[in-house]
Amino acid sequence: MKKYIFVTGGVCSGLGKGVAAASLGSLLERSGLHVRLVKIDPYINVDAGTMSPYQHGEVYVTDDGAETDLDLGNYARYTSAPLGKENSITTGQIYQEVIQREREGRYLGRTVQVIPHITDEIKRRICLVGEAADVDVTIIEIGGTVGDIESVPFLEAARQFIHDTGKKGVMFVHVTLVPGVAGGELKTKPTQHSVKELREIGIQPDVLLCRAARPLNIDERKKIALFTNVEEEAVISAYDVPTTIYEIPLLFHDQRLDEIAVERLNLQVGPADLSVWRRVVGTIKSATRTVRIALVGKYIELGDSYKSVTEALSHGGIANGVRVEIVRIDSERVENVARIEELFEGIDGVLIPGGFGARGVKGMILAARYARVNKIPCFGICLGLQVMVIEFARSILKLEDANSTEFAPGCASPVVSLLEEQIDVKNYGGTMRLGKSDAVLGADTKIREAYATETINERHRHRYEVSNRFRERLAEKGMIIAGTTMDRELVESVQWSDHPWGIGVQFHPEFKSKPFDPHPLFTSFVNASLVHAG
Ligand code: GLN
Repeated sequence: MKKYIFVTGGVCSGLGKGVAAASLGSLLERSGLHVRLVKIDPYINVDAGTMSPYQHGEVYVTDDGAETDLDLGNYARYTSAPLGKENSITTGQIYQEVIQREREGRYLGRTVQVIPHITDEIKRRICLVGEAADVDVTIIEIGGTVGDIESVPFLEAARQFIHDTGKKGVMFVHVTLVPGVAGGELKTKPTQHSVKELREIGIQPDVLLCRAARPLNIDERKKIALFTNVEEEAVISAYDVPTTIYEIPLLFHDQRLDEIAVERLNLQVGPADLSVWRRVVGTIKSATRTVRIALVGKYIELGDSYKSVTEALSHGGIANGVRVEIVRIDSERVENVARIEELFEGIDGVLIPGGFGARGVKGMILAARYARVNKIPCFGICLGLQVMVIEFARSILKLEDANSTEFAPGCASPVVSLLEEQIDVKNYGGTMRLGKSDAVLGADTKIREAYATETINERHRHRYEVSNRFRERLAEKGMIIAGTTMDRELVESVQWSDHPWGIGVQFHPEFKSKPFDPHPLFTSFVNASLVHAG
Protein backbone atom coordinates (compact mmCIF):
# COMPACT_ATOMS: atom_id res chain seq x y z
CA MET A 1 0.00 0.00 0.00
CA LYS A 2 1.17 3.50 -0.85
CA LYS A 3 1.98 5.81 2.05
CA TYR A 4 1.74 9.58 2.33
CA ILE A 5 3.49 12.00 4.66
CA PHE A 6 2.29 15.60 4.78
CA VAL A 7 4.67 18.28 6.01
CA THR A 8 3.02 21.48 7.21
CA GLY A 9 4.42 24.62 8.79
CA GLY A 10 3.34 26.64 11.77
CA VAL A 11 3.94 30.03 13.41
CA CYS A 12 5.80 31.66 10.51
CA SER A 13 7.33 30.93 7.14
CA GLY A 14 11.01 30.36 6.47
CA LEU A 15 11.49 27.57 8.99
CA GLY A 16 13.18 25.25 6.55
CA LYS A 17 10.24 22.95 5.82
CA GLY A 18 11.84 22.10 2.48
CA VAL A 19 15.09 20.91 4.04
CA ALA A 20 13.09 19.05 6.70
CA ALA A 21 10.96 17.26 4.08
CA ALA A 22 14.05 16.51 1.99
CA SER A 23 15.95 15.18 5.03
CA LEU A 24 13.10 12.87 5.98
CA GLY A 25 12.96 11.74 2.35
CA SER A 26 16.64 10.96 2.44
CA LEU A 27 16.36 8.93 5.66
CA LEU A 28 13.57 6.80 4.20
CA GLU A 29 15.37 6.41 0.89
CA ARG A 30 18.52 5.32 2.65
CA SER A 31 16.48 2.70 4.50
CA GLY A 32 15.63 1.15 1.14
CA LEU A 33 12.30 2.81 0.29
CA HIS A 34 11.28 4.44 -2.99
CA VAL A 35 10.41 7.98 -2.08
CA ARG A 36 8.80 10.83 -4.02
CA LEU A 37 8.45 14.46 -2.99
CA VAL A 38 5.80 16.97 -3.94
CA LYS A 39 5.75 20.68 -3.21
CA ILE A 40 2.46 22.50 -2.92
CA ASP A 41 2.57 26.28 -3.32
CA PRO A 42 -0.75 27.82 -2.40
CA TYR A 43 -0.24 30.92 -4.56
CA ILE A 44 -2.40 31.62 -7.63
CA ASN A 45 0.55 31.76 -10.07
CA VAL A 46 0.48 28.68 -12.27
CA ASP A 47 4.22 28.19 -11.83
CA ALA A 48 7.24 30.05 -10.48
CA GLY A 49 8.44 31.08 -13.95
CA THR A 50 7.09 34.59 -13.78
CA MET A 51 7.96 35.27 -10.16
CA SER A 52 10.67 37.70 -9.11
CA PRO A 53 13.71 36.12 -7.49
CA TYR A 54 13.39 38.85 -4.86
CA GLN A 55 9.98 37.60 -3.79
CA HIS A 56 10.45 33.93 -4.14
CA GLY A 57 14.13 33.11 -4.44
CA GLU A 58 15.53 31.01 -7.23
CA VAL A 59 13.36 29.33 -9.84
CA TYR A 60 14.36 25.67 -9.91
CA VAL A 61 14.15 24.00 -13.32
CA THR A 62 13.53 20.27 -13.77
CA ASP A 63 14.63 18.05 -16.67
CA ASP A 64 11.20 18.32 -18.26
CA GLY A 65 11.37 22.10 -18.16
CA ALA A 66 9.06 22.88 -15.26
CA GLU A 67 9.85 26.18 -13.55
CA THR A 68 9.33 25.38 -9.92
CA ASP A 69 9.83 26.43 -6.34
CA LEU A 70 13.36 26.28 -4.98
CA ASP A 71 12.37 23.55 -2.53
CA LEU A 72 12.51 21.09 -5.40
CA GLY A 73 16.21 21.93 -5.43
CA ASN A 74 16.40 20.80 -1.80
CA TYR A 75 14.67 17.54 -2.71
CA ALA A 76 17.15 17.08 -5.57
CA ARG A 77 20.16 17.68 -3.31
CA TYR A 78 19.08 15.35 -0.51
CA THR A 79 17.45 12.51 -2.40
CA SER A 80 17.61 10.73 -5.72
CA ALA A 81 13.85 10.95 -6.24
CA PRO A 82 12.98 11.94 -9.82
CA LEU A 83 11.45 15.41 -10.15
CA GLY A 84 9.31 16.91 -12.89
CA LYS A 85 6.20 18.95 -13.60
CA GLU A 86 4.02 16.66 -11.52
CA ASN A 87 6.08 17.28 -8.37
CA SER A 88 5.11 20.94 -8.15
CA ILE A 89 1.48 21.86 -7.50
CA THR A 90 0.06 25.37 -7.23
CA THR A 91 -3.41 26.77 -6.60
CA GLY A 92 -3.18 28.25 -10.10
CA GLN A 93 -2.74 24.81 -11.70
CA ILE A 94 -5.56 23.28 -9.68
CA TYR A 95 -8.07 25.99 -10.53
CA GLN A 96 -6.96 26.14 -14.16
CA GLU A 97 -7.68 22.42 -14.52
CA VAL A 98 -11.05 22.55 -12.73
CA ILE A 99 -12.20 25.63 -14.63
CA GLN A 100 -11.18 24.09 -17.94
CA ARG A 101 -13.14 20.96 -17.12
CA GLU A 102 -16.12 23.08 -16.17
CA ARG A 103 -15.94 24.92 -19.51
CA GLU A 104 -15.87 21.59 -21.30
CA GLY A 105 -19.12 20.70 -19.56
CA ARG A 106 -17.60 17.77 -17.76
CA TYR A 107 -19.29 18.52 -14.43
CA LEU A 108 -22.67 17.75 -16.03
CA GLY A 109 -24.43 20.86 -14.83
CA ARG A 110 -23.44 20.48 -11.18
CA THR A 111 -22.29 23.43 -9.05
CA VAL A 112 -18.48 23.35 -9.03
CA GLN A 113 -17.20 23.88 -5.47
CA VAL A 114 -14.02 23.94 -3.40
CA ILE A 115 -15.18 20.77 -1.68
CA PRO A 116 -15.27 18.31 -3.41
CA HIS A 117 -14.08 19.54 -6.81
CA ILE A 118 -10.98 21.52 -5.89
CA THR A 119 -10.00 19.08 -3.13
CA ASP A 120 -10.56 16.12 -5.48
CA GLU A 121 -8.28 17.70 -8.06
CA ILE A 122 -5.63 18.27 -5.35
CA LYS A 123 -5.86 14.62 -4.31
CA ARG A 124 -5.74 13.47 -7.93
CA ARG A 125 -2.54 15.45 -8.48
CA ILE A 126 -0.91 14.04 -5.34
CA CYS A 127 -1.93 10.48 -6.24
CA LEU A 128 -0.59 10.90 -9.76
CA VAL A 129 2.84 10.86 -8.11
CA GLY A 130 2.13 8.66 -5.10
CA GLU A 131 0.22 5.81 -6.78
CA ALA A 132 2.90 5.18 -9.46
CA ALA A 133 4.11 1.58 -9.54
CA ASP A 134 7.53 1.89 -7.95
CA VAL A 135 6.67 4.35 -5.18
CA ASP A 136 6.50 3.47 -1.48
CA VAL A 137 6.20 6.83 0.26
CA THR A 138 5.28 10.29 -1.01
CA ILE A 139 6.18 13.31 1.06
CA ILE A 140 4.01 16.34 0.37
CA GLU A 141 5.21 19.69 1.64
CA ILE A 142 2.44 22.25 1.94
CA GLY A 143 3.96 25.71 1.50
CA GLY A 144 2.98 28.67 3.64
CA THR A 145 1.78 28.54 7.21
CA VAL A 146 -1.21 26.81 8.76
CA GLY A 147 -3.81 29.51 9.18
CA ASP A 148 -3.20 31.12 5.78
CA ILE A 149 -6.42 31.43 3.77
CA GLU A 150 -4.73 30.06 0.65
CA SER A 151 -3.70 26.74 2.16
CA VAL A 152 -7.15 25.75 3.48
CA PRO A 153 -8.18 23.58 0.47
CA PHE A 154 -4.82 21.77 0.55
CA LEU A 155 -5.07 21.03 4.26
CA GLU A 156 -8.63 19.80 3.75
CA ALA A 157 -7.42 17.49 0.96
CA ALA A 158 -4.65 16.27 3.28
CA ARG A 159 -7.19 15.56 6.00
CA GLN A 160 -9.28 13.52 3.57
CA PHE A 161 -6.31 11.19 3.07
CA ILE A 162 -7.04 9.85 6.57
CA HIS A 163 -10.38 8.64 5.20
CA ASP A 164 -9.09 7.54 1.85
CA THR A 165 -6.00 5.60 2.94
CA GLY A 166 -6.84 4.75 6.52
CA LYS A 167 -4.82 5.75 9.57
CA LYS A 168 -1.78 3.65 8.64
CA GLY A 169 -1.61 5.26 5.21
CA VAL A 170 -0.90 8.83 6.15
CA MET A 171 1.23 10.71 8.62
CA PHE A 172 1.46 14.40 9.49
CA VAL A 173 4.68 16.21 10.33
CA HIS A 174 4.38 19.78 11.53
CA VAL A 175 7.39 22.10 11.46
CA THR A 176 7.06 24.80 14.07
CA LEU A 177 9.02 27.56 15.75
CA VAL A 178 9.99 27.58 19.41
CA PRO A 179 11.32 31.10 19.85
CA GLY A 180 13.70 32.15 22.59
CA VAL A 181 13.33 35.22 24.76
CA ALA A 182 15.95 37.19 26.65
CA GLY A 183 17.62 34.91 29.18
CA GLY A 184 17.53 31.90 26.85
CA GLU A 185 14.08 30.62 27.81
CA LEU A 186 12.22 28.93 24.95
CA LYS A 187 8.55 29.74 24.48
CA THR A 188 6.18 26.92 23.55
CA LYS A 189 2.98 28.95 23.25
CA PRO A 190 3.22 29.71 19.49
CA THR A 191 3.63 25.97 18.85
CA GLN A 192 0.62 25.13 21.02
CA HIS A 193 -1.46 27.64 19.04
CA SER A 194 -0.42 26.42 15.65
CA VAL A 195 -1.12 22.78 16.56
CA LYS A 196 -4.50 23.90 17.87
CA GLU A 197 -5.20 25.46 14.49
CA LEU A 198 -4.28 22.22 12.73
CA ARG A 199 -6.50 20.19 15.02
CA GLU A 200 -9.42 22.53 14.38
CA ILE A 201 -9.31 21.47 10.74
CA GLY A 202 -9.14 17.83 11.73
CA ILE A 203 -5.42 17.13 11.55
CA GLN A 204 -3.57 15.84 14.59
CA PRO A 205 0.17 15.99 13.89
CA ASP A 206 2.12 12.79 14.54
CA VAL A 207 5.49 14.52 14.71
CA LEU A 208 6.58 18.04 15.60
CA LEU A 209 9.86 19.33 14.26
CA CYS A 210 10.60 22.16 16.64
CA ARG A 211 12.87 24.82 15.19
CA ALA A 212 14.84 26.58 17.91
CA ALA A 213 18.19 28.23 18.38
CA ARG A 214 19.29 25.48 20.78
CA PRO A 215 18.28 21.88 21.54
CA LEU A 216 15.06 21.55 23.56
CA ASN A 217 15.51 20.06 27.01
CA ILE A 218 13.40 17.24 28.44
CA ASP A 219 11.03 19.55 30.26
CA GLU A 220 10.40 21.62 27.16
CA ARG A 221 9.68 18.53 25.10
CA LYS A 222 7.36 17.15 27.81
CA LYS A 223 5.46 20.40 27.96
CA ILE A 224 4.99 20.59 24.20
CA ALA A 225 3.92 16.92 24.09
CA LEU A 226 1.35 17.46 26.83
CA PHE A 227 -0.22 20.51 25.23
CA THR A 228 -0.26 19.24 21.66
CA ASN A 229 -1.13 15.59 22.25
CA VAL A 230 1.95 14.49 20.33
CA GLU A 231 3.99 11.65 21.82
CA GLU A 232 7.03 12.90 23.69
CA GLU A 233 9.56 11.05 21.54
CA ALA A 234 7.89 12.57 18.45
CA VAL A 235 8.62 16.09 19.67
CA ILE A 236 11.85 16.49 17.77
CA SER A 237 14.37 19.17 18.40
CA ALA A 238 15.29 20.73 15.05
CA TYR A 239 17.80 23.19 16.42
CA ASP A 240 20.07 25.42 14.34
CA VAL A 241 23.06 23.36 13.23
CA PRO A 242 26.32 25.29 13.41
CA THR A 243 28.31 24.17 10.36
CA THR A 244 26.21 22.71 7.59
CA ILE A 245 22.58 21.99 6.73
CA TYR A 246 23.71 18.61 5.44
CA GLU A 247 23.87 17.57 9.07
CA ILE A 248 20.09 17.67 9.38
CA PRO A 249 19.37 14.10 8.18
CA LEU A 250 21.80 12.89 10.88
CA LEU A 251 20.22 15.15 13.50
CA PHE A 252 16.76 13.72 12.72
CA HIS A 253 18.04 10.16 12.61
CA ASP A 254 19.65 10.53 16.03
CA GLN A 255 16.22 11.48 17.35
CA ARG A 256 14.63 8.47 15.61
CA LEU A 257 12.50 10.43 13.12
CA ASP A 258 12.84 7.71 10.48
CA GLU A 259 11.96 4.94 12.95
CA ILE A 260 8.92 6.87 14.13
CA ALA A 261 7.74 7.20 10.50
CA VAL A 262 8.42 3.54 9.78
CA GLU A 263 6.46 2.40 12.86
CA ARG A 264 3.65 4.87 12.31
CA LEU A 265 3.15 3.86 8.68
CA ASN A 266 3.91 0.19 9.18
CA LEU A 267 6.73 0.15 6.62
CA GLN A 268 9.17 -2.68 5.94
CA VAL A 269 12.73 -1.37 5.84
CA GLY A 270 16.33 -2.31 6.41
CA PRO A 271 18.71 -0.29 8.60
CA ALA A 272 19.36 3.25 7.31
CA ASP A 273 22.77 3.56 5.69
CA LEU A 274 23.79 7.13 6.39
CA SER A 275 27.48 6.78 5.60
CA VAL A 276 27.23 9.29 2.72
CA TRP A 277 25.93 12.00 5.04
CA ARG A 278 28.61 11.22 7.62
CA ARG A 279 31.23 11.55 4.90
CA VAL A 280 29.81 14.84 3.60
CA VAL A 281 29.56 16.37 7.07
CA GLY A 282 32.99 15.02 8.06
CA THR A 283 34.62 16.56 4.98
CA ILE A 284 32.97 19.93 5.58
CA LYS A 285 33.95 19.97 9.23
CA SER A 286 37.55 18.93 8.69
CA ALA A 287 38.25 21.44 5.88
CA THR A 288 40.94 23.86 6.96
CA ARG A 289 41.58 25.87 3.80
CA THR A 290 39.11 28.41 2.47
CA VAL A 291 38.65 29.67 -1.07
CA ARG A 292 36.86 32.96 -1.58
CA ILE A 293 34.48 33.09 -4.53
CA ALA A 294 32.85 36.34 -5.59
CA LEU A 295 29.25 35.88 -6.68
CA VAL A 296 28.58 38.90 -8.88
CA GLY A 297 24.83 38.99 -9.37
CA LYS A 298 21.88 41.31 -9.56
CA TYR A 299 19.63 39.64 -7.00
CA ILE A 300 22.22 39.59 -4.23
CA GLU A 301 20.11 40.99 -1.38
CA LEU A 302 17.98 37.89 -1.03
CA GLY A 303 20.03 34.92 0.11
CA ASP A 304 17.87 32.37 -1.71
CA SER A 305 18.04 33.97 -5.18
CA TYR A 306 21.02 31.86 -6.17
CA LYS A 307 20.33 28.89 -3.89
CA SER A 308 21.41 26.11 -6.25
CA VAL A 309 24.52 28.03 -7.32
CA THR A 310 25.71 28.62 -3.76
CA GLU A 311 24.97 25.02 -2.79
CA ALA A 312 26.80 23.72 -5.88
CA LEU A 313 29.80 25.88 -4.94
CA SER A 314 29.82 24.31 -1.50
CA HIS A 315 29.68 20.88 -3.18
CA GLY A 316 32.72 21.90 -5.24
CA GLY A 317 34.35 22.68 -1.89
CA ILE A 318 33.47 19.22 -0.56
CA ALA A 319 35.03 17.62 -3.65
CA ASN A 320 38.24 19.57 -3.06
CA GLY A 321 38.24 19.24 0.73
CA VAL A 322 38.05 23.02 1.23
CA ARG A 323 35.57 25.49 2.59
CA VAL A 324 34.06 27.87 0.04
CA GLU A 325 33.40 31.36 1.31
CA ILE A 326 30.94 33.15 -0.93
CA VAL A 327 31.43 36.89 -1.19
CA ARG A 328 28.22 38.36 -2.57
CA ILE A 329 28.88 41.37 -4.73
CA ASP A 330 25.97 43.39 -6.08
CA SER A 331 26.82 43.97 -9.73
CA GLU A 332 25.45 47.51 -9.50
CA ARG A 333 28.11 48.23 -6.91
CA VAL A 334 30.79 47.16 -9.38
CA GLU A 335 29.46 49.85 -11.74
CA ASN A 336 29.73 52.56 -9.16
CA VAL A 337 32.94 51.80 -7.33
CA ALA A 338 35.99 53.96 -8.04
CA ARG A 339 38.55 51.16 -7.87
CA ILE A 340 37.21 47.75 -8.84
CA GLU A 341 40.27 45.98 -7.43
CA GLU A 342 39.18 46.95 -3.94
CA LEU A 343 35.96 44.99 -4.35
CA PHE A 344 37.83 41.94 -5.58
CA GLU A 345 40.66 42.01 -3.07
CA GLY A 346 41.48 38.50 -1.86
CA ILE A 347 39.05 36.88 -4.30
CA ASP A 348 40.16 33.53 -5.74
CA GLY A 349 37.38 33.04 -8.29
CA VAL A 350 34.51 34.97 -9.85
CA LEU A 351 31.10 33.48 -10.62
CA ILE A 352 28.60 35.42 -12.75
CA PRO A 353 25.19 33.76 -12.47
CA GLY A 354 21.97 33.89 -14.50
CA GLY A 355 19.50 36.73 -14.64
CA PHE A 356 17.00 38.68 -16.70
CA GLY A 357 16.86 42.34 -17.71
CA ALA A 358 19.43 45.09 -18.20
CA ARG A 359 19.86 46.24 -14.62
CA GLY A 360 23.28 45.38 -13.24
CA VAL A 361 24.64 43.90 -16.47
CA LYS A 362 27.24 46.66 -16.83
CA GLY A 363 28.78 45.65 -13.52
CA MET A 364 28.86 42.01 -14.57
CA ILE A 365 30.72 43.00 -17.75
CA LEU A 366 33.27 44.91 -15.66
CA ALA A 367 33.67 41.90 -13.36
CA ALA A 368 34.21 39.57 -16.34
CA ARG A 369 36.82 41.96 -17.76
CA TYR A 370 38.57 42.17 -14.40
CA ALA A 371 38.71 38.38 -14.11
CA ARG A 372 39.87 37.92 -17.70
CA VAL A 373 42.63 40.54 -17.57
CA ASN A 374 43.85 39.50 -14.12
CA LYS A 375 43.63 35.79 -14.93
CA ILE A 376 41.27 35.03 -12.07
CA PRO A 377 39.15 31.88 -12.60
CA CYS A 378 35.77 32.97 -13.92
CA PHE A 379 32.59 30.92 -14.29
CA GLY A 380 29.73 32.44 -16.28
CA ILE A 381 26.36 30.73 -16.07
CA CYS A 382 23.64 31.53 -18.63
CA LEU A 383 23.50 35.35 -18.45
CA GLY A 384 27.08 34.99 -17.15
CA LEU A 385 28.15 33.37 -20.44
CA GLN A 386 26.36 36.07 -22.43
CA VAL A 387 28.19 38.73 -20.39
CA MET A 388 31.55 37.05 -21.09
CA VAL A 389 30.77 37.11 -24.82
CA ILE A 390 29.69 40.78 -24.78
CA GLU A 391 32.79 41.77 -22.82
CA PHE A 392 35.10 39.86 -25.15
CA ALA A 393 33.47 41.37 -28.25
CA ARG A 394 33.87 44.86 -26.86
CA SER A 395 37.43 44.51 -25.56
CA ILE A 396 39.05 42.17 -28.10
CA LEU A 397 36.91 42.42 -31.24
CA LYS A 398 36.70 46.19 -30.62
CA LEU A 399 32.97 46.15 -31.24
CA GLU A 400 32.22 48.93 -28.82
CA ASP A 401 28.46 48.60 -28.87
CA ALA A 402 28.43 44.81 -28.74
CA ASN A 403 25.44 43.81 -26.66
CA SER A 404 22.52 41.45 -26.25
CA THR A 405 19.29 42.51 -27.92
CA GLU A 406 17.71 41.82 -24.54
CA PHE A 407 19.40 44.97 -23.23
CA ALA A 408 19.93 46.99 -26.41
CA PRO A 409 17.40 46.09 -29.10
CA GLY A 410 18.67 47.29 -32.46
CA CYS A 411 22.32 47.61 -31.39
CA ALA A 412 24.88 47.46 -34.22
CA SER A 413 26.69 44.37 -32.90
CA PRO A 414 24.13 42.00 -31.40
CA VAL A 415 26.53 39.28 -30.27
CA VAL A 416 23.71 37.78 -28.20
CA SER A 417 20.22 37.82 -29.66
CA LEU A 418 16.96 35.97 -30.18
CA LEU A 419 17.15 33.16 -32.68
CA GLU A 420 14.67 34.77 -35.05
CA GLU A 421 16.93 37.82 -35.10
CA GLN A 422 19.76 35.66 -36.40
CA ILE A 423 19.59 35.17 -40.12
CA ASP A 424 21.31 31.83 -40.48
CA VAL A 425 19.45 29.75 -37.92
CA LYS A 426 16.02 28.48 -38.83
CA ASN A 427 13.36 26.29 -37.30
CA TYR A 428 13.78 27.43 -33.73
CA GLY A 429 10.98 29.31 -31.98
CA GLY A 430 11.62 32.50 -30.08
CA THR A 431 10.34 31.15 -26.83
CA MET A 432 12.26 30.17 -23.74
CA ARG A 433 14.57 27.20 -24.07
CA LEU A 434 13.57 25.20 -21.01
CA GLY A 435 14.62 21.88 -19.54
CA LYS A 436 17.20 19.31 -20.47
CA SER A 437 19.01 18.93 -23.75
CA ASP A 438 22.22 17.37 -24.99
CA ALA A 439 25.39 19.25 -25.85
CA VAL A 440 28.68 18.19 -27.38
CA LEU A 441 32.00 19.40 -26.00
CA GLY A 442 35.03 20.24 -28.11
CA ALA A 443 38.24 18.22 -27.90
CA ASP A 444 41.05 19.82 -25.87
CA THR A 445 38.75 22.17 -24.03
CA LYS A 446 38.77 22.73 -20.29
CA ILE A 447 35.09 21.91 -20.02
CA ARG A 448 35.62 18.56 -21.73
CA GLU A 449 38.43 17.85 -19.30
CA ALA A 450 36.18 18.75 -16.35
CA TYR A 451 33.32 16.50 -17.47
CA ALA A 452 35.64 13.80 -18.81
CA THR A 453 33.02 13.02 -21.44
CA GLU A 454 32.13 14.30 -24.90
CA THR A 455 28.38 14.65 -24.67
CA ILE A 456 26.55 16.07 -21.71
CA ASN A 457 22.98 16.67 -20.72
CA GLU A 458 22.07 19.85 -18.87
CA ARG A 459 19.07 22.08 -18.18
CA HIS A 460 18.29 25.40 -19.81
CA ARG A 461 16.21 28.45 -18.98
CA HIS A 462 16.87 31.30 -21.36
CA ARG A 463 15.58 33.04 -24.43
CA TYR A 464 18.71 34.58 -25.99
CA GLU A 465 21.62 32.84 -27.70
CA VAL A 466 25.15 33.70 -28.80
CA SER A 467 24.73 34.96 -32.36
CA ASN A 468 26.12 32.73 -35.08
CA ARG A 469 26.98 35.82 -37.08
CA PHE A 470 29.82 36.54 -34.66
CA ARG A 471 30.90 33.01 -33.83
CA GLU A 472 33.81 32.85 -36.24
CA ARG A 473 35.19 36.25 -35.32
CA LEU A 474 34.98 35.43 -31.62
CA ALA A 475 36.79 32.14 -32.17
CA GLU A 476 39.49 33.72 -34.34
CA LYS A 477 40.36 36.16 -31.60
CA GLY A 478 40.57 33.59 -28.85
CA MET A 479 37.09 32.90 -27.53
CA ILE A 480 36.92 29.15 -27.90
CA ILE A 481 33.48 27.76 -28.72
CA ALA A 482 33.90 24.88 -26.31
CA GLY A 483 30.45 23.34 -26.53
CA THR A 484 27.46 23.39 -28.85
CA THR A 485 24.07 21.76 -29.27
CA MET A 486 24.32 18.35 -30.93
CA ASP A 487 23.49 19.88 -34.33
CA ARG A 488 26.31 22.43 -33.75
CA GLU A 489 23.80 25.23 -34.34
CA LEU A 490 23.83 26.88 -30.93
CA VAL A 491 26.67 27.81 -28.60
CA GLU A 492 26.48 25.97 -25.29
CA SER A 493 29.87 26.88 -23.84
CA VAL A 494 32.74 29.30 -24.38
CA GLN A 495 36.25 29.42 -22.99
CA TRP A 496 38.83 32.19 -22.81
CA SER A 497 42.02 30.96 -24.40
CA ASP A 498 45.22 32.05 -22.68
CA HIS A 499 43.51 32.07 -19.31
CA PRO A 500 43.77 29.58 -16.40
CA TRP A 501 39.99 28.96 -16.15
CA GLY A 502 37.46 31.13 -17.95
CA ILE A 503 34.38 29.10 -18.85
CA GLY A 504 30.88 30.22 -19.72
CA VAL A 505 27.94 27.86 -20.08
CA GLN A 506 24.51 28.61 -21.54
CA PHE A 507 22.90 25.97 -19.33
CA HIS A 508 22.46 25.65 -15.57
CA PRO A 509 24.78 22.98 -14.17
CA GLU A 510 23.95 24.03 -10.60
CA PHE A 511 20.58 22.24 -10.70
CA LYS A 512 22.22 18.83 -10.92
CA SER A 513 24.85 19.11 -8.21
CA LYS A 514 24.49 17.10 -5.02
CA PRO A 515 26.60 17.21 -1.84
CA PHE A 516 27.56 13.56 -2.28
CA ASP A 517 27.84 13.91 -6.06
CA PRO A 518 29.34 17.35 -6.74
CA HIS A 519 28.95 18.67 -10.27
CA PRO A 520 32.24 18.31 -12.22
CA LEU A 521 32.20 21.94 -13.42
CA PHE A 522 31.89 23.27 -9.89
CA THR A 523 34.57 20.84 -8.71
CA SER A 524 36.87 22.05 -11.48
CA PHE A 525 36.11 25.74 -10.86
CA VAL A 526 36.75 25.50 -7.12
CA ASN A 527 39.94 23.59 -7.86
CA ALA A 528 41.14 26.31 -10.25
CA SER A 529 40.29 28.95 -7.64
CA LEU A 530 42.29 26.99 -5.11
CA VAL A 531 45.26 26.96 -7.48
CA HIS A 532 44.84 30.70 -7.99
CA ALA A 533 44.85 31.22 -4.22
CA GLY A 534 48.28 29.55 -4.23
N1 GLN B 1 18.29 36.73 -19.82
C1 GLN B 1 19.04 35.77 -20.52
C2 GLN B 1 18.20 35.02 -21.55
O1 GLN B 1 17.01 35.03 -21.47
C3 GLN B 1 19.73 34.82 -19.58
C4 GLN B 1 18.77 33.96 -18.80
C5 GLN B 1 19.41 33.29 -17.60
O2 GLN B 1 20.46 33.69 -17.16
N2 GLN B 1 18.74 32.29 -17.03
O3 GLN B 1 18.74 34.41 -22.44
